[in-house]
Amino acid sequence: MSVTFEQARAFVSKFQEAIAADKEYLTELDSAIGDGDHGINMDRGMRAVLPKVEALPNGTVADLFRTVAMTLISTVGGASGPLYGTLFLQLGTNLKAKESVEPQDWSEALTTAVAAVMSRGRAEPRDKTMVDALLPASQALASGLAAGDEFDMALQAAEEAAHQGALDTIPMVAHRGRASYLGDRSAGHQDPGATSSWMLMRAAREAFATGSN
Ligand code: ADP
Ligand code: MG
Repeated sequence: MSVTFEQARAFVSKFQEAIAADKEYLTELDSAIGDGDHGINMDRGMRAVLPKVEALPNGTVADLFRTVAMTLISTVGGASGPLYGTLFLQLGTNLKAKESVEPQDWSEALTTAVAAVMSRGRAEPRDKTMVDALLPASQALASGLAAGDEFDMALQAAEEAAHQGALDTIPMVAHRGRASYLGDRSAGHQDPGATSSWMLMRAAREAFATGSN
């Protein structure tokens, strides 16, 4: 099975729905260790993305992701806009030459995209950022597929790893982004960006799993 254009579009719209539903929660998390706008930022960005991807004619998954990237970069003012923009841009670049997007292609694209986010934000694991959800998710996906798991199962493992990764940020002290200004006081709070990244991995599982569309 491969990831179709419609499934990629469903992935983006499920992410938008999740962000809209949890906008207040994400903003609350950002109020504790940032400036309280993560939910607002992501909601604004994804609301702008939705009509653009809905208006896209049936094309390639790569073009769709590039549209998402450009829209996020131009509409989200906070740190998260360019970082999610980088993620989607790299997904698009990686999948550009693919005629069909197989599970292995998705996994490789995600791995490269997470590396691009890390390099753009100069964030390492345990810096208490979105990387702490994205990296374990991409690793769980890759190792699941390498072990011969079905795509559905690997997507589920990626979602769970992202969820655990977001929870694991709670005791961490932030070393990147606004939360790092708080130093040790950033500990004891879940990172908002890691939380939205978990939602992203959940949307991927919902959209790409067999039988969903
Ligand atoms: P801002 O911090 O500009 O207000 P947001 O509130 O939208 O932007 O996003 C904050 C989130 O962005 C953080 O919770 C963190 O996950 C992520 N983030 C911030 N800086 C970095 C970075 N350098 N690398 C990776 N992620 C980062
Ligand atoms: Mg913020």
